[in-house]
Amino acid sequence: MAKSKKNTPALGADYSNKMRSRYAEKVKPSGKIYTKSDRRENRVKGDMKEDSKENKFEEARYQGGCLCGAVKFEIYGLMRQIINCHCGQCRRTHGHYAAYSSVEKSKFKFIRDTGLKWFRSSDKAKRGFCQECGASLFYERIGEKNISIAAGMLDSTAGLKTISHIFMNDKPDYYLIEDELPKYKQYHDNGL
Ligand SMILES: [Zn+2]
Repeated sequence: MAKSKKNTPALGADYSNKMRSRYAEKVKPSGKIYTKSDRRENRVKGDMKEDSKENKFEEARYQGGCLCGAVKFEIYGLMRQIINCHCGQCRRTHGHYAAYSSVEKSKFKFIRDTGLKWFRSSDKAKRGFCQECGASLFYERIGEKNISIAAGMLDSTAGLKTISHIFMNDKPDYYLIEDELPKYKQYHDNGL
């Protein structure tokens, strides 16, 4: 069956293009360094605010957090669509199968992390949970640029939908999957 990559769209590629063009405004094609007057001419309304907020170009696209609020976060970039993982590690972490989205860590920011604790679940990955309320929030492959976020932690999932199931070879028999989404034995496109 040739069900595969068309099912993993990155949301709104136009957004990153927009960000690139906003960077581009500030780089002189000649490569010359801007003078003060150049900068003044180039300044657009609201630029002061942008400068003071480092690389925050937009309002947060998504917000989320754990049950008690001791872990809260914001996301500025594009989130990957949601993948359901049926592996034994996810099940034991979440109590059932796991539903994860994912985003580049550079687009992810903690608002509060006083409850956050990481558990090294294998030599390849760690999982983030709240030590106050027990919520399982994050999965991270060691050394990778993305952080996976349990979809249920998001305040809003606007624009996100479930696109596939992975680790079907580890799925227990007590529940059925009755949708038509692609199902993979193990990882697919780097999973989670
Ligand atoms: Zn909590």
